[in-house]
Amino acid sequence: MSTALNRREFLGTLAAFSLFPLEEQQPDLILHSATIHTVDPKQPQAQAIAISGDRILAVGSNDDVLHLASPATKKIDLATNTVFPGFIDAHCHPAEAGLDHLRMVDCDLRSIAAIQSALRERAARTLAEEWVLGFKYDDTKTSDGRALTIADLDAAVPDHPVCIEHRGGHTAYCNSLAFQKASITSKTPDPPGGKIDHDPATGKLSGRVAETAKDSFEKIIPSNFTRDDHREGIKLISKMLARTGITSAHEAFGTPNDLRAYQDARESGDLLFRAYCLIGYRHIEAMLAAGIRTGLGDDWVRVGAMKMIADGSISERTARLSTPYEGRPDDYGIVVMTEEELYTWGRKAHLAGWQIGTHANGDVGIDTTLKVYERLQRESPRKDPRFRLEHCTVVNDSLVARIKSLAAIPTPFSTYVYYHGEKMRYYGQDRLNNMFALRSFLDAGIRATQASDYPPGEFIPMMALQSEVTRTDIKGNVWGPKQKITVEEAIRVGTINGAYASYEENLKGSLEVGKLADLVVLGRDPYKEDPSTLITVPVERTMVGGRWTFEA
Ligand SMILES: [Zn+2]
Repeated sequence: MSTALNRREFLGTLAAFSLFPLEEQQPDLILHSATIHTVDPKQPQAQAIAISGDRILAVGSNDDVLHLASPATKKIDLATNTVFPGFIDAHCHPAEAGLDHLRMVDCDLRSIAAIQSALRERAARTLAEEWVLGFKYDDTKTSDGRALTIADLDAAVPDHPVCIEHRGGHTAYCNSLAFQKASITSKTPDPPGGKIDHDPATGKLSGRVAETAKDSFEKIIPSNFTRDDHREGIKLISKMLARTGITSAHEAFGTPNDLRAYQDARESGDLLFRAYCLIGYRHIEAMLAAGIRTGLGDDWVRVGAMKMIADGSISERTARLSTPYEGRPDDYGIVVMTEEELYTWGRKAHLAGWQIGTHANGDVGIDTTLKVYERLQRESPRKDPRFRLEHCTVVNDSLVARIKSLAAIPTPFSTYVYYHGEKMRYYGQDRLNNMFALRSFLDAGIRATQASDYPPGEFIPMMALQSEVTRTDIKGNVWGPKQKITVEEAIRVGTINGAYASYEENLKGSLEVGKLADLVVLGRDPYKEDPSTLITVPVERTMVGGRWTFEA
């Protein structure tokens, strides 16, 4: 085992971290006798780690580190536990998910009847005229073999407007009263970038609306959340993330309200993860006017990239593809923002020094987004723009080569193969060998991240590892085996690569002297685990900045 940095080397390292007070050389805490996988290539393995304040003071063998203890140092023997840097979820929607969990019916249920009874129960304690809202509905996870219809919703709740969001977030299912309130009839044309579905037999509204067609409902659903509700939402989701070992999350479509909520939750002690807050393009003008750009903030709450949306979603099968969906020869998915729109918004952000992240799932969506990024760099080259391709799901060799030459960062879904296996058949095995393409990205030297997109995907890091390493779903079906990666690779993807995606690789993502003390303690070592049971590896504790955010 290599030694920890000696004092002089350590002080040398320290110069780079000016916030680290020199007087506080005594460790507050030493974790020892563990199997520590540091994700630091200079010292991949260690037994002990000393922490002072929110930073790592030393990493090494028990002998190297334990003698640094003062009488005031707390020592924790981790016995046989395994330690990794804390996991970084590089694309999820915690602020909104927290509010959803506070207010909406969780429709992650296994039959239409179960959803109907949950809605009925909520309607019974909802004031007249008020909306009954749901989320996490998934048409492929109910036993009925068909999607929710307007008739199902009318039967369950006739006298309140109902709007149920699909788990993917790009489609919604509404009842007749909701359509009435939105002034949508069966004759209303599709809005640009959206779709109002009809029953093919009768031509009547089916109840489902996609992409921008959802806006008509979102506009009229009163969002009467107080400032306190927003903070409560962050508090709730913080606990959910902490218990799985997540220490940082990239809020993928943030608003000024979200930024405030993160700051409020931090102040009240309820924020348990570090938030890198991507800002939706609709808010960019206000941000630019205030002189804000990517990077503003601190280690806990930081302004991230500007976020745009090129195409539809994978879980709802609306991603824009160059070849049609399996069994649906005319369906190529949806374009949300055109190349010209992406360029116009992107240019503003790019010139102002913002990082840009664009939701791009299908190969067509990715191609369009890359064209925009390539043009921005050609016209106004910037050093290290770290363009992000949110999801970046369906790729091919030429797209991968262009991503590499731009040094762009894909944030592919980490848990989809495992959790959303039943949707994979719409893509077909050939295409799946080019989806969530971590093997291709890593082989090309591209720094892809782990990303749940929660609520659409599950955020459990151990599920991400199993999904990426085995490419096997819950039922044992293997999807796109060419993209398998090793456990060690998956760990790097979920730690240091996530830090790189937010320009914070010198702050976190590995356990090194001077970095933030963000780590997870596991009950078993994933390196020794059968890959098919990785999801069962227990999380014992999670630490952010030297403070336990979860203890089993
Ligand atoms: Zn998302």
